[in-house]
Amino acid sequence: MSHAALTRLQQGLAALKADHLERRHLLLDGAQGAHVTINGQRVISFCSNDYLGLAADPALVAAAHTALDQCGVGAGAAHLITGHHRFHHDFEAAFARFVDKPAALLFSTGYLANLGLIAALVGRHGEVFSDKLNHASLVDAAQLSGASFTRRYHHNDLVRLESHLAKSTAQDKLIVSDLVFSMDGDLAPVDALLDLAERYDAWLYLDDAHGFGVLNDGRGGLTERARANDRVIYLATLGKAAGVSGAAVAAHQSVIDWLIQKARPYIYTTASPPLLAACLLESLRQIEAGEVRRERLRSHIMQLREGLASLKYGALMPSGTPIQPLLIGANADAVRLSQSLLQRGLLVPAIRTPTVPVNTARLRITLSAAHSADDVAQLVEALHAIV
Ligand SMILES: *Cc1c(COP(=O)(O)O)cnc(C)c1O
Repeated sequence: MSHAALTRLQQGLAALKADHLERRHLLLDGAQGAHVTINGQRVISFCSNDYLGLAADPALVAAAHTALDQCGVGAGAAHLITGHHRFHHDFEAAFARFVDKPAALLFSTGYLANLGLIAALVGRHGEVFSDKLNHASLVDAAQLSGASFTRRYHHNDLVRLESHLAKSTAQDKLIVSDLVFSMDGDLAPVDALLDLAERYDAWLYLDDAHGFGVLNDGRGGLTERARANDRVIYLATLGKAAGVSGAAVAAHQSVIDWLIQKARPYIYTTASPPLLAACLLESLRQIEAGEVRRERLRSHIMQLREGLASLKYGALMPSGTPIQPLLIGANADAVRLSQSLLQRGLLVPAIRTPTVPVNTARLRITLSAAHSADDVAQLVEALHAIV
């Protein structure tokens, strides 16, 4: 019997490969860090989100060992059964205090937090207003929320956003934006978004996956005004600068209480291992005391931007965050440059459509406090040699 569906998959895979769109794993041995072993090759990595170098930090590893002896490996149940460990509870309290919001809730991943939050806050008659460059998890979350409409506005285009809001008759409105845009490295205009949220009585949900731990003494990209405002809901993912795993939503107590009742990806999944929450408590201490790491990171960002200012072709996109994309254009060119860097022992991924718009393929360079100035210098030198 021929298996037509399988044949179609195989043709689809071949087509992706022909278009340089095939995604492949890199195989990591050992610990995450600035220098890693990938596919058996020792490389300097410019592609992790471990911005502060905490993923393999000895203090976090020690916290994991201690917690492991106390509470074992698995959570054993969902949060609302018996999986909610004191470590989860303590982390939520410490996180809320750190980001200066009344309460917080820990989800297993940022993707799940986004799915849970948007669906819980926006019912069938609600509308979601979403920046076109928002992370895929927010796009999916809006789609799966059952909201009657998702209005996508051009990147940071407040005029377009306001015109959508003005036309909306929905009772529940939610404006959602990456706070630091994950493929561009630029920031959302937080206070201007808040002005619109207030004028049109909407929630403002800000996903700070890439700002938490890095911006404003590590407290992330919220402004003071946004911290103090009840309509602002804040998300930090904890697998990036925090170096562990998970995501925390911080908001008004009633929002958190509502999520515990309604957020299905919170309710119907096993709690994350409590030892991860113990690691997160230690990570939070490291972030609070992390000014030396942040200073090193800022200095790497400056060194890279100065070093690449005179590149023959390809330009760094305007960004003051550890995400420093070098805009190339065509998928094939970005892939070729990425491969040629790899031959020199430098790992920088080519980000292509459909992750980014057509003809904006880029080398997405991410920097970490774990890099040395010499690591950054090697990347600058190699790029000048190959472009
Ligand atoms: C990485 C990322 C997420 C997903 O977080 P995970 O914890 O990795 O699932 C969500 N939003 C943005 C903007 C991200 O960059």
